[in-house]
Amino acid sequence: MFSFFKAGQIEYLQSSLLNECDFLIHAFCTRRGGVSQDDYESLNMSFKEGDEDNHVLQNWGRLAAAFNIPLEQFLVVNQVHKDDIFVVKPYGGYFSSRAELDYDAIMTTRADLAICVKTADCVPVFIVDRVKKVIAVVHAGWRGSALGISAKAVQTLLNNYGSSPQDILAAIGPSIGQCCYQVDSVVADAFIKQKDCEEFLITVKKAGRWMLNLAEANRRQILNCGVPEENIDMSGLCTVCNQDMFFSHRGSGGITGRQINFMMIKGEPSYHARTDENNYSVQ
Ligand SMILES: [Zn+2]
Repeated sequence: MFSFFKAGQIEYLQSSLLNECDFLIHAFCTRRGGVSQDDYESLNMSFKEGDEDNHVLQNWGRLAAAFNIPLEQFLVVNQVHKDDIFVVKPYGGYFSSRAELDYDAIMTTRADLAICVKTADCVPVFIVDRVKKVIAVVHAGWRGSALGISAKAVQTLLNNYGSSPQDILAAIGPSIGQCCYQVDSVVADAFIKQKDCEEFLITVKKAGRWMLNLAEANRRQILNCGVPEENIDMSGLCTVCNQDMFFSHRGSGGITGRQINFMMIKGEPSYHARTDENNYSVQ
């Protein structure tokens, strides 16, 4: 079950399932509690959508203060609507240039690294091995979902970390709902080969149009990897229907901000993070 909370001025959601893991901090933030104005009102966390940089910076400052996590411990990647997963090594430097960070998921065992996904209709999926303490955040738009990015993240846990499906928990945050997501044949065709696609791709009376339930598509991918149904938590909130609370790309007509969703393993970092002009390295 998802519930609303408030830290400082920031309103966010948490999953009760993930809250049972006392080694975790996580939040699916709303758009409330920032300083951005107009189309970006108010907690816009993206510098790429036309908002004033100064406002976005202040919003990041508010987030860091509200959760008492230093800014440099948040990790954001480029998000390019593909299915590549950035697996952060447990020690040492993890990337040499921001330009290389074209990923749509991050996975780590590191403590004190808040891994993030930005969304405005796309599905934020959090995946946790509660025994081995491995966490992953996934950005699943239609392209990534069609590529099976949530299944890929679970498979990476199973194959690379020896995870057991019954130890894996997942929380699927607010996204565009089936109520609001009409798609054409280009999108529908991309899903047609997925198992149980009739459960999330619903035909409508209008020829050549379907209603797509992206959250359910991702839930099915995780289920089909053997994760028990009771281990998956769904917010059930539609970003288009709740634009007072969430940024929505489709609902806004395209000009809007991005909310942040993050998850972190608590504990002392075993490294020192620093930045310089060209590099962001970890020692
Ligand atoms: Zn809706």
